[in-house]
Amino acid sequence: MLDADFFRRWMTATAASVEREAERLTELDSPIGDADHGSNLHRGFTAVAAVLEKEAPDTPGAVLVLAGRQLISTVGGASGPLYGTLLRRTGKALGDAAEVSEAQLTDALRAGVDAVMTLGGAAPGDKTMVDALVPAVDALAESFAAARAAAEEGASATTPLQARKGRASYLGERSIGHQDPGATSAALLIAALATTAD
Ligand code: ADP
Ligand code: MG
Ligand code: MG
Repeated sequence: MLDADFFRRWMTATAASVEREAERLTELDSPIGDADHGSNLHRGFTAVAAVLEKEAPDTPGAVLVLAGRQLISTVGGASGPLYGTLLRRTGKALGDAAEVSEAQLTDALRAGVDAVMTLGGAAPGDKTMVDALVPAVDALAESFAAARAAAEEGASATTPLQARKGRASYLGERSIGHQDPGATSAALLIAALATTAD
């Protein structure tokens, strides 16, 4: 079973990973965006780690709802509301249980990813974070490690795609040949989950 501490460690591990990879995320966002994805998420997840330490919510759901709210309020740009919605909706779906099973997390994360697709209007294949998140949730039924591999594969598979959502879509065919920054950061989020579960 996974408790509030597990979810707090997941968010802290994500913050550390985003900090390590911030430069790469921003580099990916320069040819097909506005070169701010790394700094956006670094600011957001640093704030998430700080608020979780200060408020120490005592259920898995409350950890993710607070983290999501913090991302929405600190990250300007598309990725803030989208990641914020992902975490908030996943947290709400977990309810107020003190511990949740992996199966409950899988179902909740699916609700979170569905909310991202509703908010942003992106489907798999549109070259967004959804391309990493959907396969990750599908594979999470199997294991954390499978989810991580599926997210990383999904992120790599965005390279040959033409963007149909977000800033990169303004480039049309010129968006082809670049890996999507948001799919790359989504793979970091899922990799941090797998690391936390190890
Ligand atoms: P901005 O584009 O506002 O500068 P970021 O650079 O932080 O925001 O985030 C860009 C990432 O957000 C993209 O790489 C993509 O994965 C994701 N994204 C953008 N628009 C959407 C959308 N409508 N649905 C899902 N993801 C999106
Ligand atoms: Mg950007
Ligand atoms: Mg921007």
